[in-house]
Parts: sequence; C-alpha cells; structure tokens
Amino acid sequence: VDGGHVTADMVDALVKRHAPMCMRNLHETLQDKGHLRHYGRLQYNSFLKDVGLPVEEALLFWRRSFRGMSDDKFNKEYKYNIRYGYGLEGKRINFPAKNCINIITQDQPGPQDNHGCPFRHFSPANLSSALISQYGLNFAEQSEILQAVKSGHYHVGCTRLFEITHRKQGVKKGDGLGEGESVSHPNRYFERSWSLVKD
Ligand code: SF4
Repeated sequence: VDGGHVTADMVDALVKRHAPMCMRNLHETLQDKGHLRHYGRLQYNSFLKDVGLPVEEALLFWRRSFRGMSDDKFNKEYKYNIRYGYGLEGKRINFPAKNCINIITQDQPGPQDNHGCPFRHFSPANLSSALISQYGLNFAEQSEILQAVKSGHYHVGCTRLFEITHRKQGVKKGDGLGEGESVSHPNRYFERSWSLVKD
C-alpha cells in the first residue's frame, strides 16, 4: 500500500479487518478509552503512517479519537508528536514503523500500557480470552497458539492467527499462506491481509 490512499474514516474498518493483534489492541483501547499512552501512540501512529494515512487524515483521526479533550489541549500536547512521527517536526526524520523484534524487545509495557506485542506481553489468560472472544478461535486453535507462545515463539502464534482468521474469510492454502513465511512486521501483515481479502 503506497501512501495517501487511506482516510481517517477508513481506519476503523481496515484495522479491524486487516491489522495484526498488536495494532487492533491499540485501536480498540483508543476507541474504548478515548486515549492512548505515549508508547502506544508512537507505535500506532507510525503503523498508520506506513499503512498510507496522510498526516492531515492522521490528525483528524487522532483528534476524533481523543474524545473529551479540547482542541486547544490537542493542538498543544499531541499535534506536534503526531507530526513528529511523520518527519515534519524537530529533526524531521521519517521513522519507519517498528518491526516485530523491536516491538517485542524495546520499551517494555507497564501495567497501564497497551503497546507492545500481545503474544509477548499479554498474560496467558488475557491472550486466551482475546483469541476466543475477539477472534472466535475454538479451544484447540487457541491452545495451539498458547503453546507456541509458551515456548517463546511469538511470531509463530501471530502467524497461526493470521492463517486461521484468513482461512475463515475464504483464503485458501496456496494463496500465500502456510508456506513457511512468518510474521515479522505489523505492516507486512496488514498489507498481506488487505491484498488477500480485497474490500
Ligand atoms: Fe504485532 Fe508482530 Fe506481535 Fe504480530 S508478532 S502482534 S505483528 S508485534
């Protein structure tokens, strides 16, 4: 996906349909609480930038999502950081979205945080319940993923979730799934999903 084709109005549906669990978790927390803490904003902003959300649409998306905040507070405390993430402020570095290894190993989330990788940072009970209630996995599917995660193979868990959820949407083996490739970047997960399930 090349920059500039995604609008603020498209984010909710696209993320729910195509984003990996780390980004969907950030999105749902943001929509639910009307806020995200610092590292969560960093992780999600750079993901959306590389999905192709232009900066004007990103500002609209974040402004709407931060419910109950004045325009003044948003402009003073958040606008700069969102633009910074797009390489438009400060040192003007357009940082690429983080890959899975960086998300898993850097900036470990505390109890109040929602950033990071759910396969690495959720408790087994929370991961299990999210897989069943949010993704509709059956017991055998969720326990296979929990087993991979228990052995430290977080990307294997994420890859299996991709395969299971896309197979349920009609994507067949041979259409780019189950051929030894595993998830290593949230944006590649998203792009692959969007290209396989076109709408
Ligand atoms: Fe996100 Fe990567 Fe974790 Fe999957 S393995 S949830 S893409 S950080």
